[in-house]
Amino acid sequence: MNPDTRVFHRQLATRPPLAVKGQGVHLFDAEGRAYIDASGGAAVSCLGHGHPDVLAAMHAQIDQLAYAHTSFFTTEVAEQLADQLVSTAPAGMSHVYFVSGGSEAVESALKMARQYFVEIGQPQREHFIARRQSYHGNTLGALAVGGNEWRRAQFRPLLIDVTHVAPCYEYRDRHADETPEQYGQRLVAELAEAIERLGPDKVMAFVAETVGGATAGVLTPVPGYFKGVRELCDRHGILLILDEVMCGMGRTGTLHACEQEGVVPDLLTVAKGLGGGYQPIGAVLAQERIVDAMRQGSGLFQHGHTYLGHAVACAAALAVQRVIQRDGLLAQVRERGAYLASRLQAVLGEHPHVGDIRGRGLFWGIELVQDRATRQWFDPSLKLHARLKAAAMAEGLMIYPMGGTVDGRCGDHVLLAPPFISSPEELDAIVDRLVRALAQVMKGIR
Ligand code: PMP
Repeated sequence: MNPDTRVFHRQLATRPPLAVKGQGVHLFDAEGRAYIDASGGAAVSCLGHGHPDVLAAMHAQIDQLAYAHTSFFTTEVAEQLADQLVSTAPAGMSHVYFVSGGSEAVESALKMARQYFVEIGQPQREHFIARRQSYHGNTLGALAVGGNEWRRAQFRPLLIDVTHVAPCYEYRDRHADETPEQYGQRLVAELAEAIERLGPDKVMAFVAETVGGATAGVLTPVPGYFKGVRELCDRHGILLILDEVMCGMGRTGTLHACEQEGVVPDLLTVAKGLGGGYQPIGAVLAQERIVDAMRQGSGLFQHGHTYLGHAVACAAALAVQRVIQRDGLLAQVRERGAYLASRLQAVLGEHPHVGDIRGRGLFWGIELVQDRATRQWFDPSLKLHARLKAAAMAEGLMIYPMGGTVDGRCGDHVLLAPPFISSPEELDAIVDRLVRALAQVMKGIR
């Protein structure tokens, strides 16, 4: 452990810079260096840093009431936030379960699915199906449904048995003679086979990120894929759990990413952009019939955490969501996202080591390859993604790097998720600094 720090940092050998201030799209370290937060941390800081309206709402809530345990009380602010989320939710979602982050939201959704089937007299449903190259969090249930082999490998003995099918990874997996729609149908057929193998009445839910995030760059679904998944789940009474912890709450240009797929899930997890990083908060949005089954059955969801619906976290999230609505930021995400995409394409579209640029709204992934023709990845031992992150930090740019699975099926990726308030000039600066960092890293590798 670095003797210079007593904080148990994830990277034990190094001490990261000391962050001392956040303002707009920038974070500042103790030496006064400014970093553009082009990844929003990990797709969190949708309103940037130091937003006065959010800070004011948090202060007001702290003055009034910071915390009341949910087994004794509800609070005005939690009720208001739930009203806000239900009024803008996909059809039929009637209730919101507040937690403290993304992994807790996924854990809660998995347990809701299980309890729902127990309540309705189908306890034989015991299996989850999820996707490879996915990420749903680091707690054991979330890690088990996740398909990031690098994160799972050493914990495998602790994980429940989950069946994984292929993600929607068009750049790598669509055959040259397939249309995107045909590719999507092939993936749905693979899911149908997995369901048949397990027994359709044994499966609880299919779990997927609507737009993949933290494993293989941004993975956007092909047209019709999720419609096919929804139909298949409906046919067998299987729940569809969409994890929008990263891609949700406006990141892709609509409040929920599933709106663009024309599907409504049974359970929807959100976090990150819900509170924009001002407070730790996540949520599960649930269909009425799931809540009803518990209300009329045991009358209790057999799960909970101490900080459920924390009042200051709810106040922060309510303020973030009100600012997004008041300032028309979803439209701005679509407009600025198109601008960012055009800049990335113009500057990196023909780069010899950029294989694919893909995304939606202000959620963009760049897949790095050694060779554009063969799409071969770089040798993982080069740790290209980590080098690029370091080079970007030296340029005053925060990007979210991804890489390194044990099965060699992940490659090196960069994720960009800048704040919704980023100006065109700030997006230009992000692209310029990224290009410089990439050039720097490639010089070192050749
Ligand atoms: N689900 C998805 C899709 C995520 O991207 C993440 C975090 N990257 C999580 C769940 C876990 O969230 P948290 O880190 O807040 O526990």
